[in-house]
Amino acid sequence: MAQLSDRLNRLAPSATLAMSQKSNEMKAQGIDVINMSVGEPDFFTPDHIKQAAKKAIDDNFSKYSPVPGYADLRKAIVAKLKNENGLDYSISEVLVSNGAKQSVCNTVMALINPGDEVIIPAPYWVSYPQMVKLAGGTPVFIETKIDQNFKITADQLEAAITPKTKMLIICSPCNPTGSVYTKKELEGLSEVIKKHNDLYVLADEIYEHINYIGEHSSFAQLPGMKDKTIIVNGVSKAYAMTGWRIGFIAAPEWIVKGCNKLQGQYTSGPCSVSQKAAEDAYVGSQSEVEYMRKAFERRRDLIVKLAKDIPGLEVNIPNGAFYLFPKCNSFFGKSDGTHIINNSTDFALYLLEMAHVATVGGDAFGAPECFRISYATSDENIIKAMNRIKEVLMKLK
Ligand code: PMP
Ligand code: GLU
Repeated sequence: MAQLSDRLNRLAPSATLAMSQKSNEMKAQGIDVINMSVGEPDFFTPDHIKQAAKKAIDDNFSKYSPVPGYADLRKAIVAKLKNENGLDYSISEVLVSNGAKQSVCNTVMALINPGDEVIIPAPYWVSYPQMVKLAGGTPVFIETKIDQNFKITADQLEAAITPKTKMLIICSPCNPTGSVYTKKELEGLSEVIKKHNDLYVLADEIYEHINYIGEHSSFAQLPGMKDKTIIVNGVSKAYAMTGWRIGFIAAPEWIVKGCNKLQGQYTSGPCSVSQKAAEDAYVGSQSEVEYMRKAFERRRDLIVKLAKDIPGLEVNIPNGAFYLFPKCNSFFGKSDGTHIINNSTDFALYLLEMAHVATVGGDAFGAPECFRISYATSDENIIKAMNRIKEVLMKLK
């Protein structure tokens, strides 16, 4: 009988993409759905980046690129790491991939053996545990609570490490919680990490520029940590380029070489035109990045204020990214007479069906008591969505 591989049967589909697809299907049927499920800037890619892509087409950047990406793009990334992060990398320590998603997956595949443990603080981005499982590794979760701003402590990390631990995946600013680790907090964690020779950190910094508390801190900046850190970053969020599919890792050369080998068999180098666009994103004007960051900050303030006004939701203040991750478990067990809310998936489906607002239940993020709302949408949509959510939640008794 036709049968998918065990590997695929073990893999859960992406809940963020699934919810977004569902909301798009409802929209196609003429329903006025506000899609706050998928995390992607509502802005268009800045004009100068689009011009660079058009020029790349005219200049015949139409051949296979080198597997790790064009040298000019990797040089631009090296300069970005130096100028923005004070980090010294060479181009042989940078590998460009099809979005930060492939960068994360390459790294996990390159370093994790079956049986290795990978520590993932929960709430986490939906894809991390699935990628670890794909590699045959075991995700080990550290639970965090809303009253610790969803951040792990050094003691929690120490307690989770076993002789099998190979990697810690940290996302800061964090999807889905918006939490941002300070330099001091990273220092505390790094003291634990340095005690373990075979432990590496995958530092997902894709939301670096969407930060409301100032300077971005990276593990790689801390003494003794650069050789143990794989930075993942890319243009998707900061430059509103989710569809262009360009991400990168900056890491010790042996890890980059490993990922390069994998990528060479799996996808080859990423899209040539997108790479030229990404190069322009890094070397060109940065004014739109700040413009978008400010817009996200204003919307953060707006959505936090509106969410705090909804009885039954518990909200913390996200310091980065563009997600709100409220606790909604006070509604579990309640009903409007037709729908019974037993968990966060029911909760998100209730909001979709009754309020026509697409969000994502917290289960897929390892936080079944919460749900995620992406506020990368207009002020008008945020106000409309939160009013609709409030109205339908008032019906639950
Ligand atoms: N890491 C996190 C935390 C993300 O939210 C995303 C968004 N999809 C990615 C990685 C992947 O980004 P990209 O779109 O560049 O693949
Ligand atoms: N990172 C985004 C999100 O969390 C995009 C969707 C995805 O790649 O999972 O919604």
